[in-house]
Amino acid sequence: MIIEPKIRGFICTTAHPTGCATNVQRQIDHVVIKGAIPSARKRVLVLGCSTGYGLASRIVTTFGSDADTIGVSFEREPGETKPASAGWYNNRAFENRARAAGRKAITIEGDAFSDAVKAETIAAIKDNLGQVDLVVYSLASPVRTDPKDGVTYRSAIKPYGSQVTSKTLNTGTGEVSEITVEPATEEEAQATVKVMGGEDWELWIAALADAGVLADDFLTLNYTYLGSELTWPIYHKGTLGKAKGDLDRAAAAIRAAHGEAAANVVALKAVVTQASSAIPVVPLYGTVLIKVEDEMGLSEGPIHQIDRLFREKLRGEIALDEQSRIRVDDWELSAPMQAELARRWAVLDTQNLSELADLTKYREEFLKLFGFNVGGVDYSKDVDPRVVE
Ligand code: NAD
Repeated sequence: MIIEPKIRGFICTTAHPTGCATNVQRQIDHVVIKGAIPSARKRVLVLGCSTGYGLASRIVTTFGSDADTIGVSFEREPGETKPASAGWYNNRAFENRARAAGRKAITIEGDAFSDAVKAETIAAIKDNLGQVDLVVYSLASPVRTDPKDGVTYRSAIKPYGSQVTSKTLNTGTGEVSEITVEPATEEEAQATVKVMGGEDWELWIAALADAGVLADDFLTLNYTYLGSELTWPIYHKGTLGKAKGDLDRAAAAIRAAHGEAAANVVALKAVVTQASSAIPVVPLYGTVLIKVEDEMGLSEGPIHQIDRLFREKLRGEIALDEQSRIRVDDWELSAPMQAELARRWAVLDTQNLSELADLTKYREEFLKLFGFNVGGVDYSKDVDPRVVE
């Protein structure tokens, strides 16, 4: 069949197997060309392994440091005439390439919040790796069912405390307008912490430790976004920021139980992923950031950020901020970049969007997440949606 993008709001409901496989290959190439990243952490578990920062983490550890990996993600399988989720294609493309390189690559597709998937993962670690030295937690989900009481919580990406009025972008029409978002109720804020806070991370580490599958000197990382003052009202000071703040609490609790070197939150830059495109205001900030980064020669996507994390930040003496976080958002938050972003943000409107921001590249990056608009791929070619090279 010929597979074309079908965009509904901020999601694309189709994905292209060849395009996704090409994306995976390009990320591998990025790491391989930069050379080996010496590391003793050769047995890695990546939670949320199929797209964005999690996929980049699996690629960097496998192809930079010769690690064997187990990945967990939530996917839609393909049918004879129905494309799979992009993550399903990415998982297959990654496994093919990792195994061809002599590495173990096991993927468990199911709900990482559930006890069943935790048990399945532990069994897979015992069977294939014995133990893990590194656990990367990179889940991004709008909903979580608490395995203890079966209650399903939904995150609400809203301001906290008072309403926020901000510029926003309709990425479909290119219209810049003002939106006012009402603050979350206390219940919505608590639910967002339940979904995107540190509780499930702690449950994973406790389950892995109880099963004896964590190496003595294991490290676990969890990814956060702090961002700039321009997005603080909706993000950092909103419900998501509250949930992300809970990661710092969870990291401290894991360190208290397993030692000072056991857990860190890593602050990463804003990138176009399925998760970030669903957040109000963030896509507009993203279009300006893409343009300013390009002009300053500091453009980075997930693979560049995660490569820099493992190649530079996790080697030797690890530099931490006052909350024990590792910072890879240093370029985005640098004073010259933030000053330029703020200057543009103040005057940004529909008319000057193409001059001050890069919506075209944002849209291209969004389509690439689903394997579309990838250079070198012949989209007119008939493909079997169940087959990935
Ligand atoms: P993403 O949407 O690309 O990836 C999310 C991953 O989680 C996917 O592999 C998906 O399959 C998996 N997942 C979701 N629900 C699941 C479930 N119930 N069970 C198993 N797997 C599940 O997201 P991303 O942007 O790469 O985000 C990853 C982390 O990085 C998040 O913590 C996010 O807050 C953080 N982060 C993102 C940005 C950004 O700009 N995108 C910036 C800084 C930090």
